[in-house]
Amino acid sequence: MVFRVSFPPPRPRMGMRALLALIFTFWVCAPAFAETAIRDVRLGKNGDRTRIVFDLSASASPKVFLLADPSRVVVDFENADAKGFDQLKSKGLVTGLRFGHFNAKTYRFVLDLSGPAKIGRAFALDPAGGAGHRYVIDIDQATRAEFADAVRASRTTTRPAAQAAPTPRRIAPKRSHAKRMVVLDPGHGGVDPGTLGVLGVNEKIITLKVARAIRTELENSGRYRVRLTRDRDIYIPHRQRYGIAHDEGADLFISIHADSIANPKVRGGTIYTLSETASDREAARLATKENKSDIIAGLDLGTTDTVVSGILIDLAQRETLNASVEFAKTLLPRMRQQVRMHKRGHRFANLLVLKSIDVPSILLETGYLTNRDDARMLNSRSGQRKIARAVLAAVDDYFASQTVEAR
Ligand SMILES: [Zn+2]
Repeated sequence: MVFRVSFPPPRPRMGMRALLALIFTFWVCAPAFAETAIRDVRLGKNGDRTRIVFDLSASASPKVFLLADPSRVVVDFENADAKGFDQLKSKGLVTGLRFGHFNAKTYRFVLDLSGPAKIGRAFALDPAGGAGHRYVIDIDQATRAEFADAVRASRTTTRPAAQAAPTPRRIAPKRSHAKRMVVLDPGHGGVDPGTLGVLGVNEKIITLKVARAIRTELENSGRYRVRLTRDRDIYIPHRQRYGIAHDEGADLFISIHADSIANPKVRGGTIYTLSETASDREAARLATKENKSDIIAGLDLGTTDTVVSGILIDLAQRETLNASVEFAKTLLPRMRQQVRMHKRGHRFANLLVLKSIDVPSILLETGYLTNRDDARMLNSRSGQRKIARAVLAAVDDYFASQTVEAR
């Protein structure tokens, strides 16, 4: 990749306050009405400094801030969109880069860093010498202490959209509707693409398609109301996902995913329910991977208590958990009738998205996107409909058995 912007002269010595002021957020006035197209992203390296350059259709003023554990730089563009450029190769301090819609207003870039760093400079460049509008961020190596200071400072001076107010715990609304409510949760989305399948389709695309197919099947039955946690390519934090189910007074929560593994021969779906300890190594691996979603999307876990302290299952969750296991056991044979399921089709793991207090919740790994047959099935409408039919049958069975028990 050709690096087209020359580095500015070294900045003069400055006091700590001025330095801190430079370290995080920079605002440049930009017209609020126009949507900015982000046309390209380029990385360059010069000694200890790594430069990231955004090519833009208009002048823009992204929010730039640092996150720890792991070290990341987050760049949030408001009213912006990006299309058609490739993933970047790692360079300098930047070991990975993801981008996508973070919420309705924000287009987010998350840069993984190889270690502690600080934002040296961040500035807009006007068109010049054949190049258009650009926004430039210089990332410099830093000591651990400098990095910690910079992260703390960005936390108090920026309010990234990620840190939306926590969902207040409310009593679930009275279930006055005759129809049961099922909340479907298409995994990943936006800046968090999930697994990349062998057919070149990201997990976030598959999960949304499968969820829509299930919604169609459930709604067409006339027996259920359905809500999707997301119905477009956008990221939703874990706690917000099960928070939606709670706020809706949902009767069931189904999180939809697709797995990946090094061995391309491994295939078949698996149903997961919550447990403090994983049922086996594979389940532990899966939980570690899926729980990283919030980190991948550039959330600041340092300020979200539930994620950090969310290991223990509280007593109130036990009853919910029993119902979740009941539903998993109902779903497994129905899935087997339609698609290939793993030999151990029901496993237990500490999955953050299943931590609802009051809504029975399962996570459905629909298959392995690293397996050609599974990937083909998941990419096809017929495959998606098979899964949807299995879920409808299981949801019917589950609520029927509940009604019997309640008599
Ligand atoms: Zn996933």
